[in-house]
Amino acid sequence: MYDKDHITYDEYGMLYSHCFACHAVIKKRTEIPSQRDPSKMVFGFMHLSNYRTFKVHLSNGSVMYQEYCDECAQKPIDEEKGLEVAKNGYDKALEKSGLSADEVNRVKARYKDLATVKTGKKVK
Ligand SMILES: [Zn+2]
Repeated sequence: MYDKDHITYDEYGMLYSHCFACHAVIKKRTEIPSQRDPSKMVFGFMHLSNYRTFKVHLSNGSVMYQEYCDECAQKPIDEEKGLEVAKNGYDKALEKSGLSADEVNRVKARYKDLATVKTGKKVK
C-alpha cells in the first residue's frame, strides 16, 4: 500500500493513473476526437467506474485531490502517505521534464516540506 508510482508512463506520456494506496488502475489514456478538428484524434483521459477523489488540505494553504479506487475509498485513507505518493510522482515528472538540475531543485523546493493539515472530504 502507498508504495508504488501513481502514474504509469509510456513513450507517449501518461498511460495509466493508479489508486494512491493499492495501485489499481483508476484512469487510463484514450483517444478522443479533437475539438478543433473532429476528424483528428487526440489523447484524453477516461475515469474508470472505480475512480474516487479526496480533497486534501495542505500546509501552504492549497488543496490537492488524491485519487483512490472505490474499494480503498470505503476505508480510512492515509492522506500523509498519499501526499508522499504524489511527491514521488512530481519528482519523476520533473526528471522527465528536460529542465536543468538547478530548475528541478528549485521546483522540488516548493513542495518538499508540504504536509497535510486536516482530514480530506470525499468529493467524488
Ligand atoms: Zn485502491
